[in-house]
Amino acid sequence: MRTALVNIGRIVSGDWQQPVATGDCIVCDGGAIVHVGSADKAALAGCDVVIDATGTTAIPGLIDSHVHITFGDYTPRQRTVGFLESYLHGGVTTAISASEVHVPGRPKDPAGVKALAVAAHKCFLTYRPGGMRVHAGAVILEPGLTRADLAEIREQGVWLAKAGFGAFPTPYDYQETIAWARELGMITLVHTGGSSIPGSSGIWADHLLRLRPHVSFHTNGGPIAMPDADYPRLVNESDMALQVCTAGNLRTTLLCAQLLTEANAFGRLLVATDTPTGSGIMPLGMLYTISHLASLGGIAPELAIAAATGNNARVYGLNSGVIAPGRDADVILIDACAGGSTNDACAALANGDIAAVGAVVSDGVPRFVGRSRNTPQTTRTVVVAENRVMHDFAAPAH
Ligand SMILES: [Zn+2]
Repeated sequence: MRTALVNIGRIVSGDWQQPVATGDCIVCDGGAIVHVGSADKAALAGCDVVIDATGTTAIPGLIDSHVHITFGDYTPRQRTVGFLESYLHGGVTTAISASEVHVPGRPKDPAGVKALAVAAHKCFLTYRPGGMRVHAGAVILEPGLTRADLAEIREQGVWLAKAGFGAFPTPYDYQETIAWARELGMITLVHTGGSSIPGSSGIWADHLLRLRPHVSFHTNGGPIAMPDADYPRLVNESDMALQVCTAGNLRTTLLCAQLLTEANAFGRLLVATDTPTGSGIMPLGMLYTISHLASLGGIAPELAIAAATGNNARVYGLNSGVIAPGRDADVILIDACAGGSTNDACAALANGDIAAVGAVVSDGVPRFVGRSRNTPQTTRTVVVAENRVMHDFAAPAH
């Protein structure tokens, strides 16, 4: 399928080092972006669908790197069906599992955690709720897991390893298992802050600096923050990515952003939600945290968007998250919400508003065009200008 977006007001690239791309047109073909620039005849030739962005802002589909999926589009924690599809209406085109810890009665023995990770990983290989790509199957590191165990599930495709909920006596005891996972090419993730569920203990800078994971999960607290004095240590004594989550401490989110900016290491800031969880289901959580960074944290909106897209993609090794030829065709159109005091998406975010989502294209396929089910209306109305496939891309009336 070939899909073009034309009359784009502004293209925010998702690349924090070059956050704006020139042009007013993006063309996607077969799941990849093939053209970013002006809407010339050659680029538009043979398009199945042409979306008129009517001056709205194009950004990469948001990547939520902390979602507690289980199986199917269902969360047992909040007993809700269809939450992932709702996140897609909040502009999230990629969800990365933060471990299937919410599976009722989840196993805790080595054979059980291995089976859970492999099953979750394989269940979401081709299942895309609402069009979202879900990277599932984050093995929960438990005592007794051997290097051979990790090698076996790595062979089965599992590439995420999560520390923090295991029955180790102290957080330091994860060290060997995390090192094995790293050696095997897995992305390693460590819970940070106070305990989020009974049985998990607090994990602070001392632990993280010893464990050396790729990502400090919800560095701002999940939901309880570590001491302020620990933040500069993580920024300056390590190169790990610091993930900030909507369902956490807002003040320390802003502290992380400030410290990473001062260290010229903004690429290490990852925006995520840590939902569904006790704090609920937040289809617009990514947009809220972007807005918090842009309005309270002094971060340019284009950079806050990069933290929610390209930064996540780089740390997790994904081909999405950046608008450039050859990258995955996950593009969303956003705008100032109708009736607000600002005129475009970035101004709205800097004002502390969320942005309205006007269209979502994932894997090159328009998932809806016009109005999101979850955000207010866009100021400008995004429309399908040309359509050669038998499908109505407007979101269902509501
Ligand atoms: Zn979590």
